[in-house]
Amino acid sequence: MTSSQQEATPIIRANKMNKFFGVFHALKDIDLTVARGETVVLCGPSGSGKSTLIRCLNALENHQKGELEVAGVQLTGKRREIDMVRRKTGMVFQSFNLFPHMTVLENCMIAQMRVKKTSKEDARKVAERFLARVHIPEQAGKYPAQLSGGQQQRVAIARALCMSPEVMLFDEPTSALDPEMVREVLETMVELAREGSTMICVTHEMNFARKVANKVVFMDQGSILEIAKPDDFFTNPQHERAKEFLAQIL
Ligand code: ADP
Ligand code: MG
Repeated sequence: MTSSQQEATPIIRANKMNKFFGVFHALKDIDLTVARGETVVLCGPSGSGKSTLIRCLNALENHQKGELEVAGVQLTGKRREIDMVRRKTGMVFQSFNLFPHMTVLENCMIAQMRVKKTSKEDARKVAERFLARVHIPEQAGKYPAQLSGGQQQRVAIARALCMSPEVMLFDEPTSALDPEMVREVLETMVELAREGSTMICVTHEMNFARKVANKVVFMDQGSILEIAKPDDFFTNPQHERAKEFLAQIL
C-alpha cells in the first residue's frame, strides 16, 4: 500500500462483530467505521458494552464472530496480529496505571525502550517532548504518588503518545478525577483532537463531545443503537433509550 492509500483506509472497521463472555452476549453485530483523524465519543448506560468494545479495538479482548480490522490489521486471534494492534493503539484507562516505583519520565520511556527498542537518549527526548505537550514538563523527575490525579492522567496520556500510536483509545479517562481536575485532562484531549489525532473516547463529558467529536456512538445492551453528529444526537436522539440516557446525564 502507498502512504496515500493507507491514509484513506479507515483506522477501525468492524463488521457484524460479536463478543461473548461464556454464554453472555456482550457485543452484538457491531458495525463501526472510524476514519483517520476522526474523534469518536462512545457513550451509553453502565454495562452497555463500551469498555468491552474499546478493549476489542486494542485486542485486550478477542471477538468471536464477524470481522474487526484495526490500523490495517485484520484481527483473527493470532498472536502476531494482537502484538501489531497493541503497538498501533494507545490506551488510557480510568485508573492511570502508572508504574509507582518509576519517575514520570521513566514511565514515559520504558515501553519505548522495551517494545520499540528505542535508545535511552532518544526515549528521553521523546518523553520530554510529550510531557511538554501535556503541559507538565516540570513533573518529569517526580513519582506518580507525588502528582495530582489530573497530572497523573496527563502522564498516562503522554506515555501513550510516546509510542506514536495511530489511534488513541480512552476509557472514561476523567471518571476517577476530582471535578477540578477533570477540566485539565479534557483540555489536553481537546488539543489532541484539534491537532488531528485519531481518538475513540468512552466518556460522559458531553461538552467534550460537542466541542470535538465528529460522531457520537450510543450503545445499549451490547448493541450500537445510534451513530450521529453530536448536534443531532443531543438535540434529536432517535431512540427512546438515548433520550432517557441524555436526560440522566445532561
Ligand atoms: P460498560 O463499559 O459500558 O459499562 P462493559 O463493557 O464493562 O460495560 O460490560 C458490558 C457487559 O459485559 C456487562 O454486563 C459486564 O458485566 C459484562 N462483562 C464485562 N467484562 C466481562 C468479563 N470479563 N466476564 C464476564 N462478563 C463481562
Ligand atoms: Mg466501562
